[in-house]
Amino acid sequence: MEQGRIWTIGKILKWSEQYFAERGIDTPRLDAEVLLSHVLGVKRIQLYLRFEQPLDPPELAAYREIVKRRAAHEPVAYIVGEKDFMMLPFRITPAVLVPQPDTETLVGAVMDRLKGKEGECVADIGTGSGAIVLALLHYMPALRAAAVDVSANALEVAEDNAAALGLTDRVVFYEGDLGAPLWRETFDAVVSNPPYIAKGEFGSLPLEVLAEPRIAIDGGADGLDFYRRLVKEVPPILKPGGFLAVEIGLGQGPAVQSLAREAGWESTETVKDLSGIERVIVMRRE
Ligand code: SAH
Repeated sequence: MEQGRIWTIGKILKWSEQYFAERGIDTPRLDAEVLLSHVLGVKRIQLYLRFEQPLDPPELAAYREIVKRRAAHEPVAYIVGEKDFMMLPFRITPAVLVPQPDTETLVGAVMDRLKGKEGECVADIGTGSGAIVLALLHYMPALRAAAVDVSANALEVAEDNAAALGLTDRVVFYEGDLGAPLWRETFDAVVSNPPYIAKGEFGSLPLEVLAEPRIAIDGGADGLDFYRRLVKEVPPILKPGGFLAVEIGLGQGPAVQSLAREAGWESTETVKDLSGIERVIVMRRE
């Protein structure tokens, strides 16, 4: 970035788009817009109405700083401290996984299956930012929930998000290992987006994913460690007729289904995402 030149919004967007593209950022224009609107404290659309407006020196300095971070492949959500999920704003820190659009398929699958029922109770295992459980509570006003994470730092973020969304009264957060803190209760649905990346894949992951907490993505030697445990540990906390819904990684469907059958689940259903990829397995014991 040349010093001394007048940088208007239009010019700096163009420059940073190209800079990001050269550094292998997948969505260079979008990221430039999101980061610049964050620095200027305006909505993205407003950038387009102010193309000719010059940045003042403090704005320029702040933007330069975060462009550097993004060019080093730090996730946008960690830089701006926020990410939308299910059209709701979530506060995000490097202690939590960045909520992914793919996970909206899991939330949709759970909502479809709970629809029309009253006073249901769900558990979210490995809640991270709270994205799944808080979206469910927001869109289903009669629902109550418990959420577990092994990471105290993640739970702090989830609790902040619950407060910001006005949902604190309907969710209890527990620190602990999978379903262990919930042993006294039973639920109509248990939902989980567990860590599911296999050891061997770590070498080829995008830097953005490697910036996420290892504990949020590491699924063990074959990526299936958490499914192996969930299919065995969830039944005691499930009400009769209840279900377990899990997000799965690419191609893990058949393996997770056979783990479920081996553990005595009577039926499994696969739910695909908008691009036709198997994303969710729903299991029932009857
Ligand atoms: N539900 C969030 C986060 C998923 S990442 C989302 O979909 O965006 C997986 C989460 O599981 C992380 O927050 C991680 O801290 C948590 N986790 C990992 N091992 C765990 C364990 N043994 N018990 C409970 N939570 C665990």
